[in-house]
Amino acid sequence: MARRMYAAFLAMAVATSPGAAWAQAQSPAATQAEAQALDLLKRGIAFRTVAGEGNQTFEYATYLKSVLVAGGFADEDVTVERLGDTAWLAARYRGTGKAKNGAKPLLISGHMDVVEAKPSDWERDPFTAVVENGYIWGRGASDMKYDLSTMVATLLQLKREGFKPGRDILLLLSGDEETSMKTTAALADKFHDAELLLNIDGGGGEYDEAGKPIVFGVQGAEKTYADFELTFTNPGGHSSAPRRTNAIYSLSRALSRIGAYEFPAQIDEITRASLLAAAENAPAPLADAMRRFVANPDDKEALKTLRDDPSYVGQTGTTCVATMITAGHARNALPQKAVANINCRIFPGVKVADVQKTLAEVVGDPSMTIVELDSGSRASDASPLRPDLMKAVTKAVRARFPKVPVVPVMSAGATDSMWFRAAGVPSYGISPIFMKSSDGFAHGLNERTPLSELGPSITYYKSLLADLAK
Ligand SMILES: [Zn+2]
Repeated sequence: MARRMYAAFLAMAVATSPGAAWAQAQSPAATQAEAQALDLLKRGIAFRTVAGEGNQTFEYATYLKSVLVAGGFADEDVTVERLGDTAWLAARYRGTGKAKNGAKPLLISGHMDVVEAKPSDWERDPFTAVVENGYIWGRGASDMKYDLSTMVATLLQLKREGFKPGRDILLLLSGDEETSMKTTAALADKFHDAELLLNIDGGGGEYDEAGKPIVFGVQGAEKTYADFELTFTNPGGHSSAPRRTNAIYSLSRALSRIGAYEFPAQIDEITRASLLAAAENAPAPLADAMRRFVANPDDKEALKTLRDDPSYVGQTGTTCVATMITAGHARNALPQKAVANINCRIFPGVKVADVQKTLAEVVGDPSMTIVELDSGSRASDASPLRPDLMKAVTKAVRARFPKVPVVPVMSAGATDSMWFRAAGVPSYGISPIFMKSSDGFAHGLNERTPLSELGPSITYYKSLLADLAK
């Protein structure tokens, strides 16, 4: 959904250059895979995989299946199943079953759907891939047909090379990650008996604006998204005859209390690691607060410093904030109704119902009703920082950029991973792509990604799969 959501958090703090040359010669073996990845990407962008009328996700999945089967996958090992107006795909790369820590499959997750794009708003047709000035342009060029095409090309390259993993590798592609996530839920339900999941639509690297790599994030946790609607009602009446109770006054009192309330400080393995990494390069008072908070989350002063900073407040616990209000129906009438939306980003491990209860207690007004709106989000615990995973990712990243810090991150967004984490599969966002923040056009106009990431992505995936599926 939004793989760059941690960018502001890390890029602000981690601003040193790793120094060493980051250019890498292209290995000749990768050439064929790279050409195939580009071909898959161009053809993939042409499928209008947008939710609703004319959704071509099933057609795209069918096309991908034909490519996988032509490249050596058995027909019965690639499943495409329709669900509503979309579809999911599962492709099994068979292993020997001799992996040393059991033979549960390694899952790779991505999505085939894209966010709507109106051709009239774009400089170019969003569903016609254009290669220009070293970039590929089109809807999905960044989120996430690029990662998907390079992964498919990598699996086919591994087939050509006769690679036999110790465990099965299962490529799982959802078809509605940007909307209802029903295919993700179906996939997580069907394939939850797995060793771990690599989400190629999460995490990833950052370049500074000069093109130097500055950090690589491994998304190991995400906050739960929740909206609560607070409502006060009142019989109302003529504004010339005010009552003692007023829905707008009641709502504003409630909002003041919520605004003043802070949820308890929280820390886990992932935020501890990412705060310590960020402290390496943050300005002194902030770096000091990060280290003191990690040493003692009850350090009130350190907590205040972090919570005063919008880039870090979300890393220290649950946050809830008023985002919308509507109230009243006429200038000369007492309001019969006042409603506010409270948007919460809930720390992993905290129940949504407990946050709702806390909000009601903070307001302390029994005349208020509070309802959780259905956002399609799912609560999930943080995934453990597995040493085998971190080692394999660090090795794959450092083969390209030897000094780049590889840092675990908790994101604020809702990716496919939350469904798998909730089903008990440790899940990690590990997209190979490094991007400048000025190139981040996912979900926006004129989406694009530099073609220079194609070859290195394939090399990275091969290293990662060799290490984690052996
Ligand atoms: Zn995405």
